Amino acid sequence: MRTIIWFREDLRLSDNTSLTYACQQGEVIPVFFQPKGLGGASKWWLHHSLANLDKALSEQGSQLNLFKGKPEVVLPKLCKELNADQVVWGRVYSPSGMELGAKVKEALDHIGIIAKSFNDQLLIEPTRIKNKQGSPFKVFTPFWRHCLSVLAPEPPLPVPALRPTNHREPISDEQCSLNELGLLPRKPNWAVGFEDIWKPGESGATHSWSNFLEGPIARYKDDRDIPHKDGTSKLSPHLAFGEISVRQLWFDLQGLMASGEVSHTQGNKFLSEIGWREFSRYLLVHFPYLERSPFNSKFDHFPWGDNQELSDAWTKGETGYPIVDAGMRELWKTGYMHNRVRMIVASFLTKHCLTHWHVGMDWFWDTLLDADIGNNTASWQWAAGCGADAAPYFRIFNPILQGEKFDKEGSYVKKWVPELSKVPNKFIHKPWECDSLVLKELGVVLGEDYPFPVVDHKQARETALSAYAVLKTID
Ligand code: FAD
Repeated sequence: MRTIIWFREDLRLSDNTSLTYACQQGEVIPVFFQPKGLGGASKWWLHHSLANLDKALSEQGSQLNLFKGKPEVVLPKLCKELNADQVVWGRVYSPSGMELGAKVKEALDHIGIIAKSFNDQLLIEPTRIKNKQGSPFKVFTPFWRHCLSVLAPEPPLPVPALRPTNHREPISDEQCSLNELGLLPRKPNWAVGFEDIWKPGESGATHSWSNFLEGPIARYKDDRDIPHKDGTSKLSPHLAFGEISVRQLWFDLQGLMASGEVSHTQGNKFLSEIGWREFSRYLLVHFPYLERSPFNSKFDHFPWGDNQELSDAWTKGETGYPIVDAGMRELWKTGYMHNRVRMIVASFLTKHCLTHWHVGMDWFWDTLLDADIGNNTASWQWAAGCGADAAPYFRIFNPILQGEKFDKEGSYVKKWVPELSKVPNKFIHKPWECDSLVLKELGVVLGEDYPFPVVDHKQARETALSAYAVLKTID
């Protein structure tokens, strides 16, 4: 039996059910298709992740064959050219990912080729989970409680032994090289520096996971909210591209909790974050319109503003609110932003600036290395107050108090907004309250070296609340 394995968002060899299945059947031909709609930062990651996957396959005498073109057109052609009997892949649980999977299956069925897909992205198949009434859950806590009561993931699979085919020549007109996929930024190369911070690919993912288990997991529950600490796993881009399996994370942590090496409090807190990832995808499977439309349809009528200057200040990290600016600059420089700060900047954009959550979601999509359709959509809707299980709209984060609470010493702000590095801690989250002469001596003239706040917090809060009041009048 000769099998084409279509790598999609599971760019790994270990615990890859479709790959293992293919290897058990006989010869294997690995392929990958240029994806559509990725943001710039994700493309950078993908380039390196594909190189890493190809290297791992080469070590087993195989190779990753890259293609442009539509999978539903090219895969049937490849099956004929290569005498393949079947095509297997890991399912992608996004609306466009599911649509593409269905199209490919139909095209293969049409020519009598076996098409098989597996769940390699989630702990649990989204369609399996329903509430007592047989409807999809809409609130996280009962969803996750229910998942925990039924979860029985298969133990992770080892890297299978590959029996590759012997072709080395291009196997179709649509085949291309990694560079021809055009994933890397050219002029300007804004990804300079990413390589010093990140190691895309399965080996990098395993390394990050081991590091996390050796240190930060012991304090995860407390440290995960402190942006200047290395308190979280930084696994998100690896998970977005499936370079490590969630089943692996689950089994490793269950083992460590059982042996007492990781406390249940810490381990379960981490697993509940994995639960949020499951919930985000689950919601998209059951309510695909959430990709662009609010869960709470009243928000269709929300009077979003369109102040370009405000959203520009936000993207550039020049709002005059240090914690917001630090987050936006961390994002630009590293392709990542700490979760607490993501919540603060998202609240600021949607509430203080009254800017549509699409604007923020699209910016994140383009600039985050971990851009993930499920997590990004659900989190933006959560922050804007219009999502399933969302923060109520009237809960407006105060960027000064949030900064003072989670970045007490201002270490995070001082790192990413260096022009404020000498400002005393008392004023680090509200430099405009510091005497201007004192500030000048510290090298900061507001309005020149660092902006005045683009909106006044109290006034912006009032405006946001009156905009919200409009929703209350809608049935
Ligand atoms: P850890 O704390 O180590 O968590 C482990 C994993 O759990 C993460 O890698 C992630 O897969 C998952 N996870 C953690 N927090 C959440 C959450 N709140 N919702 C869903 N899954 C979570 N995460 C993305 O992966 N991609 C996105 O595009 C994305 N966009 C976001 C946009 C906004 C406005 C907000 C508020 C959050 C967003 N998140 C997104 C969620 C979260 O910020 C990141 O997953 C987390 O910061 C990644 O860092 P980590 O891997 O060190 O997290």
